[in-house]
Amino acid sequence: MANNDKYSRETHLIYGKAFTTKWDYNHHVVPPISSSTTFRLDSVERGALGFSEFEHIGELPDTEPPIYIYDRLGEPNKEILEENLAAAESGETAVTFATGMSAISGVLGILTQSGDEIVSHKTLYGCTFSLLTNWYPRYNIKTVKVDLTNPDNLYDAVTEKTKVVYFETPANPNLEIIDIEEVVKRVREINKNRDEKNQILTVVDNTFATPYCQRPIEWGVDFVVHSLTKNIGGFGTDMGGVVIGKRKYRDMLMLYRKDFGGVLSSKSAWPIMVYGLPSLAIRMQREIENAMKIAEFLSQHPKVQFVNYPGLPSYRFYEVAKKQMIDFHGKFAPGNMIYFALKGNTHEEGREKGRALMNYIAQNAYTLTLAVSLGHVRTLIEHPGSMTHSMIPAEEQIKEGIDPAGIRMSIGLENGDDIIRDLEEALSHI
Ligand SMILES: *Cc1c(COP(=O)(O)O)cnc(C)c1O
Repeated sequence: MANNDKYSRETHLIYGKAFTTKWDYNHHVVPPISSSTTFRLDSVERGALGFSEFEHIGELPDTEPPIYIYDRLGEPNKEILEENLAAAESGETAVTFATGMSAISGVLGILTQSGDEIVSHKTLYGCTFSLLTNWYPRYNIKTVKVDLTNPDNLYDAVTEKTKVVYFETPANPNLEIIDIEEVVKRVREINKNRDEKNQILTVVDNTFATPYCQRPIEWGVDFVVHSLTKNIGGFGTDMGGVVIGKRKYRDMLMLYRKDFGGVLSSKSAWPIMVYGLPSLAIRMQREIENAMKIAEFLSQHPKVQFVNYPGLPSYRFYEVAKKQMIDFHGKFAPGNMIYFALKGNTHEEGREKGRALMNYIAQNAYTLTLAVSLGHVRTLIEHPGSMTHSMIPAEEQIKEGIDPAGIRMSIGLENGDDIIRDLEEALSHI
């Protein structure tokens, strides 16, 4: 059973590499849950060889079964999942982490040191924002936040010290879309005048889109990160994260993970590998179909101020989305996330209506669940303005780029008409 490129990518998500040195796939239809913190060594020499291989992971071919030593260094379940995730994103290698945040701190950890700078898009997942704003300055790593929806803004933000350009697309929570190709083009242009060790590397958080809808590495990005907790895990049962990129960075990522310790539990790797990834394509297809219908419904509703959904032709970023958010066969795949706001005469009123809608939904809606996170079989809805950011006055929220009225929805696998009915009823009470 060799790897075979004649099969489509959805099929690969189910079968993985079909042949792996990490486990005997010939006799297991489903890989067993491997659960062992330590591994028996036949001799001290084998132990020594294992450690020396670990120090040179990126340089050695992986045709031989690995010598496993200790779970934090590597174990079969994580490594099968890593092979499949790398293939899904068209990357050379993948290293899993305990959570999306440990993956993000892992990749930024190997790419920066004291004195360096990061350029990021201004809108970021809250904890990533906090990592860059509250923690990295302690290590003398500065982040310059700019609006990358205009890629030309890079020119002003980049300095001699810049080592990383970091962004999410679509961005959390407002679904702003950044033109990956145009950012990569500019970074490459800047890199032409820099020596090898000062090259700026690009990192994209692809959590919202998933590899089913968008593969940034195919556009020339150096690293992709994911929260596996979300769309890839898909069922809301396990936390995880991954960094995908070039093989030459594998040893650094593995060393970072070994020493900082944010290792994915094999008991979490297993469901992501057995349930999450194989069902990703079919889940995303259904969720996109639902999201499209719901976005259209909301955009025609008289109480709705605006709807940000990459699949709506009226959306400001529709053309860029159509270019880069495509499935394995080139079809437009605008994802399962929607961001919208209710009309209000003032920002405070818009926020108040959002709060009221959330509370009505929490008490009355069967197919809408008031909860953070995303990429679940259930449709999840939340209102950052009155939840995570409730302490910040509406006017201040606007300055930080957060619409006080903005509501974020992660569309699930329900019958789309049921979700629309619940939304319609909730909106009629606001
Ligand atoms: C949730 C999320 C993260 C963090 O992932 P965890 O698994 O919760 O640590 C990072 N980026 C985005 C866009 C997310 O939605």
